[in-house]
Amino acid sequence: MEKKIPYKIYLNENEIPAQWYNVRADMKVKPAPLINPATGKPMTLEDMNPVFCEELNKQELDNDNRYIDIPAEVLDFYKMYRPSPLTRAYFLEKALGTPAHIYYKFEGNNTSGSHKLNSAIAQAYYAKKQGLKGVTTETGAGQWGTALSMACAFFGLDCQVYMVKCSYDQKPFRREVMRTYGAKVTPSPSDTTEIGRKILAEHPGTTGSLGCAISEAVEAATKQEGYRYVLGSVLNQVMLHQTIIGLETQAALKKYDIKADIIIGCAGGGSNLGGLATPFIGEMLRGEADYRIIAVEPASCPSFTRGRFAYDFCDTGRICPLAKMYTLGSQFIPSANHAGGLRFHGMSPVLSQLYHDGFLEACAVEQTSVFDAAVQFARTEGILPAPESSHAIKVAIDEALKCKESGEAKNIVLGLTGTGYFDLYAYEKYNNGTMNDYIPTDEELTEYLAKIPKVEE
Ligand SMILES: *Cc1c(COP(=O)(O)O)cnc(C)c1O
Repeated sequence: MEKKIPYKIYLNENEIPAQWYNVRADMKVKPAPLINPATGKPMTLEDMNPVFCEELNKQELDNDNRYIDIPAEVLDFYKMYRPSPLTRAYFLEKALGTPAHIYYKFEGNNTSGSHKLNSAIAQAYYAKKQGLKGVTTETGAGQWGTALSMACAFFGLDCQVYMVKCSYDQKPFRREVMRTYGAKVTPSPSDTTEIGRKILAEHPGTTGSLGCAISEAVEAATKQEGYRYVLGSVLNQVMLHQTIIGLETQAALKKYDIKADIIIGCAGGGSNLGGLATPFIGEMLRGEADYRIIAVEPASCPSFTRGRFAYDFCDTGRICPLAKMYTLGSQFIPSANHAGGLRFHGMSPVLSQLYHDGFLEACAVEQTSVFDAAVQFARTEGILPAPESSHAIKVAIDEALKCKESGEAKNIVLGLTGTGYFDLYAYEKYNNGTMNDYIPTDEELTEYLAKIPKVEE
């Protein structure tokens, strides 16, 4: 007899995987190395150690070790809010009238409200172990800064967050959460750094940008004794830490003998999608199983679907290393979109290579259709989803409706990365009918793609 699948498949805390999975070990074609813009050569540990934490740099460059032990201290912290449940969306399925089975892995069950805490706690741990006093970072929408402030509070590290000025003004609640956890939050550009003063002098009254906040955070890290700079997405190490999501999902599915058919995640810098999907892609790389993996990006910032696979700067300020990735050009500034976490011009180099080699598909969706899906999900499954996560919901619903036509009972797994409590301004616009969709024209994209540097490989 078929086992009745519960609404929530829980693992117990001893079933949390004790190692992260490094997909690079299984990739036949490795992701291209980061390039140091100063030398034009691949980044080495010596290049990276003055800016980033040592152990994290080792993880960044590790293409060989398939599994990396999760330190006991990090595992203990994970136990406070993990394992996250894998939930069967019975009510959504019913509303859609689909024979498909939809499962979502919910990462919003912690105060920071997103999956970013999975990497923040690991990064803070390694910084502490290295004997550092503190870390600096930037935050746009605020999720990463919030997660990092929680992690730093736990390990007793100083946390300095450069928050894009318009978000600082528009999202006072996120700012206060960070301050409550002891972080120092500075609106960027600020007069606390040289680069900030320069930008302020050249553009008085500017409301800032992520690129500018990155430049300030890097300068602050390198100018203070005992500080390093940390990042919440895009990097290999971040995706590595996020594989806790996919490994738990595999364990939960295994409990009920469920074979996933389609795995869907939203793609900003690629860390949650890579974290969810790479353990499954590993099975594909080793020839053990096959899956459809779908990356969902906003139509306003379509890195995979309309970008170019090339070396490019990771930041607007062009001070960070060059990465080979799908990119719209580092000077591309996406139009205001309410999924702040998906407004990055590039993409994880690992996922970029896997996409290039045909291991995942990508699609771009428009903002209002994403909110239609978000509202349907909220009204059926109860959870108010983050706008970023709702990109994955939208495509899961589309796939479930295709199953309705074909009569196939496919198993669809989606990554529900966070909650939308700090995005109510976006929901207000949607509810008032004043949300619009902006899709860049080919001419616009061509202009920014032309500015991608020419790098010899
Ligand atoms: C940051 C964020 C994302 C996107 O970042 P990735 O690195 O692509 O995972 C998605 N959802 C939420 C809730 C976020 O905070």
